[in-house]
Amino acid sequence: MTETIVGIDLGTTNSEIAIVQNGKVTVIENAGRKIVPSFVGIADNNEILVGETAKNQYILYPERTIKSIKRLMGEETKVEMAGQAYTPQEVSAIILKHLKGIAETYLNQPVKKAVITVPAYFSDSQRQATREAGEIAGLEVVRMINEPTAAALSYEAAQKAHKRILVYDLGGGTFDVSVVSIEDDVVEVVASHGNNKLGGDDFDQKIIDFIVKHIKDKTGLDIQESRKAMARINRAAEAAKRALSDQPFVMIEEEYLEEHEGAPIHLSLELSRTDYEEMIANYIDETLEAVHIALNGANLTASDIDEILLVGGSTRTPIVSQRLTEEFRLEPHIEVDPDLCVASGAAIQAAMIAGDDISASAVLVDITPYTYGTSALGELNGEIYPYKYVPIIHKNSALPLSKSEVFFTMRDNQEAVEVKIFQGEDDDALNNIQIGEFTVEGLSQVPEGNPIIISLALDLNGILHVSAKEKNTGLEKSIVIDNAISRFEGEKMEAAKKRINQIFGEQTTEGIIIDQQTDDNHIIVQARALVEKAERMLEEASPEDREDMVNMIESINDAIAKPAIADLKEPMDQLSDILFYLES
Ligand code: AMP
Repeated sequence: MTETIVGIDLGTTNSEIAIVQNGKVTVIENAGRKIVPSFVGIADNNEILVGETAKNQYILYPERTIKSIKRLMGEETKVEMAGQAYTPQEVSAIILKHLKGIAETYLNQPVKKAVITVPAYFSDSQRQATREAGEIAGLEVVRMINEPTAAALSYEAAQKAHKRILVYDLGGGTFDVSVVSIEDDVVEVVASHGNNKLGGDDFDQKIIDFIVKHIKDKTGLDIQESRKAMARINRAAEAAKRALSDQPFVMIEEEYLEEHEGAPIHLSLELSRTDYEEMIANYIDETLEAVHIALNGANLTASDIDEILLVGGSTRTPIVSQRLTEEFRLEPHIEVDPDLCVASGAAIQAAMIAGDDISASAVLVDITPYTYGTSALGELNGEIYPYKYVPIIHKNSALPLSKSEVFFTMRDNQEAVEVKIFQGEDDDALNNIQIGEFTVEGLSQVPEGNPIIISLALDLNGILHVSAKEKNTGLEKSIVIDNAISRFEGEKMEAAKKRINQIFGEQTTEGIIIDQQTDDNHIIVQARALVEKAERMLEEASPEDREDMVNMIESINDAIAKPAIADLKEPMDQLSDILFYLES
């Protein structure tokens, strides 16, 4: 058995550890969770806490807990925890050791080697500090790869065709965007930009401010003075934010938050997705500006991008996909869990180094090949049209999932709404396939604009649950559509499979992964790749060509060894020409 090399995403907010087993990527679970919050703490009894338990004590005992240590990597500094000073490497090592332990328990064998991901913008000293953290944790860091490279690998390992991929990574506390180029198994980061102080935590803060203001307006109390209440508000805000990724409204409810003038304060506050999106609009604008800066840096425009990959939990916020789709006229990929794709890519890289087999669909999860939605009055080709298609579940979404959207009645005292469910992509719902229909009757006698929430839930067996609910009364009607996926078997299914397979490409077991740091470095890596390729093709060459190839390989190797970058160009060009001629 080959020694397992693990892949680790050591993130600012969360970390994960993954391996390739039997050609498939597994992100390893610990107590039912794959995501380990990047928090380290010391409990009252001096026990070291890592992950969820440390995160739980953070708000109450910040002096005993450390978060976001990644921000300090590479700095000559120390952080204090329960009165003791620790270097950033030591704190990161505690997280790494915890992850190592999770993998060892799962594999029932020691783990000694790892591929660890780092942001593309990490400097040498930040990378060095990460390597040291690995060593402290008892891990040999066999390679460090850039996070966008890992993300690209999880989707597109070993792409033959040249593709330019935009990796949009919005996590808890950082935003990064990179343009990654893939060609002939070579993955390189062409340009990167970002803001290391922008992420989901800022979105939470907007909701927290909204809650604090609501309590202040209602009761006059400044709830921020109560640490305990704020801990609960923080958690409630984050939960509300997550809920709004799947549904148009959320009720934020917390009982007995605090006592004020002898009376208990209960929180019960509704937030709509529309209002929430307004709160975070400036942040999203800022990320799109960064996207354009990265494109400029790569000398590309939006139309040069072939794929968009979403990384980081905050990309589940639907407005992110919507804005990117508008800008690029390209739907971002959503097949691989945005929280897990960096760790998955690290594991794929680790398996490549170990020489393990990777199957063509290593990280492919169950996805829906179709879009499902309903129809509503809307604008189509510049005209008002009654059957404008409104997608609710988008194709390529990972299953199972449930999504809902809000619609509004169009007439005063409207008693009923007719709900039609379609499968397809066309803007005109009538060009799609209708798969269900029902009517909700007995709506309240209210003016137009009565909100009706339509929810779709698609499970792994292709069963689609549809419901429509009058928001203000809870009046609800639902239907179940069996075989929402398999009813389209046959030609359409084959076409869809082919398309999905094309999206993913074939993954091979070998591959050279480049992370570009400097131009020189880049040329050297290209030169090595060329030499490797030439060595593989030596056998098929004629004796004369072989002699030429060997000479050029020697010149290239000499130039790399010196290193003399200027001497590389000529033999590389000549060798490329021979390879081109041999391949054609
Ligand atoms: P990461 O740093 O990539 O692990 O991302 C963590 C961030 O993603 C946190 O701010 C989470 O609150 C956020 N997040 C996770 N799930 C969702 C979701 N369903 N909708 C919106 N944000 C989410």
